[in-house]
Amino acid sequence: MYKKTMSAMLAVGLVLSVGVASAQEPVQKPNAQAASAFDNKIIKKISSDNMYNTIAKLSAQPREAGTEGEWIGVQYIKSQFEQLGYETELQPFTFNEVVRGTGSLTVNGATLDPYVFSGSYSAEVTADIVHVGLAKSGEVPDEVRGKIALIERGEITFVEKIQNVLDKGAVGVIMYNNSGTSNRFGQANAGQNIPAVAITREQGLELVNQLKGGPVEATIKVEGSGFVEKTSYNVIAKMKPHKNKDTNQVVMIGAHHDSVAGGPGANDDASGVSAVLELARVMANMPTDTELRFVTFGAEEKGLLGSYHYAGSLSEEDADRIVAHFQMDMVGARDAGGRSSSRWINHVYN
Ligand SMILES: [Zn+2]
Repeated sequence: MYKKTMSAMLAVGLVLSVGVASAQEPVQKPNAQAASAFDNKIIKKISSDNMYNTIAKLSAQPREAGTEGEWIGVQYIKSQFEQLGYETELQPFTFNEVVRGTGSLTVNGATLDPYVFSGSYSAEVTADIVHVGLAKSGEVPDEVRGKIALIERGEITFVEKIQNVLDKGAVGVIMYNNSGTSNRFGQANAGQNIPAVAITREQGLELVNQLKGGPVEATIKVEGSGFVEKTSYNVIAKMKPHKNKDTNQVVMIGAHHDSVAGGPGANDDASGVSAVLELARVMANMPTDTELRFVTFGAEEKGLLGSYHYAGSLSEEDADRIVAHFQMDMVGARDAGGRSSSRWINHVYN
């Protein structure tokens, strides 16, 4: 890689480590001469006021993917790139937004107050219950066909469990917890067209007991639940290298612009966007031998959807040209670079 590509990469690294917060990876130290060049060309030009201004503008309203708030943020980011002279493009993509509705559960005439799975299919079904344990693949009995599957939570994801009983012809799902006293869990996928509700461990074990005495009939009713198609956007700004000194390589700098529902998302991730925009400003007239590509992604909070869509949209040739990507998430806080999210992800899906 050529020197100017390295200067772009190091500049990003230095902003992460010096300008905003701590870097995730230690930045390789440039030699003294190169370091002072970075200082003069990049670091000294970084304006924290600009960055705070971006954060204030973006966090004026929540920017949940697929909402008006995201659209306002996207328009702002696009206009900033364009003012800096970048060739800028909006890349729209659709996704299914999960909606959790309301529901009821009646078992042998007694009413339970279940928790409706996020995205559960909305329907009313009445059938006998069949206990299928953990509903692992290959372990679901054939007798669940046309019946409501009573499933224990744990070991595999909610979605896998629903799919395994759906494949065997079940018409509904009642899932009971594997510990504690809560019934608040569960998520279905789009296309899993049977209603699914959750109950407590105690309620589940009571049903298992009742089934030992003979057939138990249940009615599950779910309303206003399912998936709604929404549109989110990636914002892509490109700076072409000098045409006589083109490495044909690309360095990318990215952040996600969407926030969680109802949150201003100042740190997560207007801070990352502010770093992207400020680097775009500082580098706007910097001659390079490598294409710089600044991207803000949509629907990160819905499961990295924007970045998946972007990666999927690249031709193999274009993907091969990308030699580095710097992703800035929550760079505005002292704990930047933490690894706190993996435990949460496990909790949500199984
Ligand atoms: Zn984030």
